[in-house]
Amino acid sequence: MSRLHPDFSVTIIGGGPAGLMAAEVIANAGVRVDVYDAMPTLGRKFLRAGLGGLNITHSESFKEFCTRYGDKQTKLQLYLEAFPPDALRSWVHELGIKTFVGTSGRVFPNEMKAAPLLRIWLQRLRNSGVRFHMNHRWLGFNDDAMLRLANPTEEVLVKAENAILALGGASWPQLGSTGTWSPWLEERGVKMATWQSANCGFDVSWSEHIREKFSHSPLKSVSLTFTDLNGETTSRQGELLVTEYGVEGSLIYAFSRQMREYMTAHGKATFTLDLLPAQSFEQILKILKRPRGSRTMSRHLQNCLGDDTLKRALLYEVLSREQMENPLTLAKYIKALPITLLSTRPIAEAISTAGGVSFDSVDANLMLKNIPGLFVAGEMLDWEAPTGGYLLTACFATGRQAGLGVLNWLQNDSK
Ligand SMILES: Cc1cc2nc3c(=O)[nH]c(=O)nc-3n(C[C@H](O)[C@H](O)[C@H](O)COP(=O)(O)OP(=O)(O)OC[C@H]3O[C@@H](n4cnc5c(N)ncnc54)[C@H](O)[C@@H]3O)c2cc1C
Repeated sequence: MSRLHPDFSVTIIGGGPAGLMAAEVIANAGVRVDVYDAMPTLGRKFLRAGLGGLNITHSESFKEFCTRYGDKQTKLQLYLEAFPPDALRSWVHELGIKTFVGTSGRVFPNEMKAAPLLRIWLQRLRNSGVRFHMNHRWLGFNDDAMLRLANPTEEVLVKAENAILALGGASWPQLGSTGTWSPWLEERGVKMATWQSANCGFDVSWSEHIREKFSHSPLKSVSLTFTDLNGETTSRQGELLVTEYGVEGSLIYAFSRQMREYMTAHGKATFTLDLLPAQSFEQILKILKRPRGSRTMSRHLQNCLGDDTLKRALLYEVLSREQMENPLTLAKYIKALPITLLSTRPIAEAISTAGGVSFDSVDANLMLKNIPGLFVAGEMLDWEAPTGGYLLTACFATGRQAGLGVLNWLQNDSK
């Protein structure tokens, strides 16, 4: 890109991973960048993501990686090809942060946290001239189509041209991304898909016993099978968490889009759990058929389930006492225990959201077709992906693209 006019400047609203990546691309081209954010500090959701172990990207093949974005794969692939997981890892390494690949193929910084990375990155951005304006909340457009930014003492007006919105999704609003800006874009003809919970928990009507004894208990080494709306059946092994209200955790998140879609169509959804995926039905039946003498069924079950009291309690949750006495029925349910989901947990609790700015409303550079010169990036666009580093990778990749897009606009289209 040839040198841009020194008077050019770009406004970015939203200082999460997407907005900061856009800022880096623009500052590196020698253009002045002002980043505004509603919160007192930057990257709050990114920091929160680092508390449970920052899963920055995934090491699986790029072909496989791209499939994780479901029906939005074709929309995102261009940006992911330009900034693939390997490039993201190299970028992290350039910041002086080492990474490692976990057993599941997920990529983490060695320290697992987001804070060291963010600290070094923000310093690098400041050194390259990026200016940060905290406590500035975007309030929509004024009558002259300027962007209204309110800080605690005044309202500032900024041109909507040469600007990027990177406002995040609508979950965990306490960290800054509230999704409340949707109507302001809709009024300007931007198509918005309704916000929905993604990577979320689901409600199950557990008995008092499960709620009291097993809230926040992990259910380890199980295999979940679910048949989606199209009749496609998928199984996956992993771990989930039984909570007071129902279920959550990585194994549930991996299916949350399909489960949510099924529930929207049918009101509820049922998946089955194989409680002993390492053993065949026949092996389990053989053990259960052994004479148990005077031992209780709970003691007898220990031969199969070991000391896993949660797995045992879940069987009692579904089967009658009579069914529990029948080895054939019991073996069948150990291999396929049905659990019915009644509702999706609220958006505010979800790890991420589906919905947001429709790809129909943006061009290939992520500029809003109805508002020339205004670009969008990150989770505020309408895509979703499971946990596994896919969320951050797409936020970085679209942030980078919006940055390049605005530079391209400054150089060519704005003349
Ligand atoms: C608990 C948790 C764990 C997670 N773990 C992972 C993980 O391990 N790996 C992974 O890939 N993803 C993870 N994610 C998801 C990931 O953090 C997000 O997808 C990512 O932060 C989105 O980046 P973004 O830049 O699009 O938006 P955000 O990070 O949400 O940033 C948006 C910014 O815009 C600002 N903003 C919003 N509205 C306004 C307004 N009106 N005016 C001014 N500023 C505004 C906000 O204050 C915020 O700073 C996790 C999320 C959560 C909640």
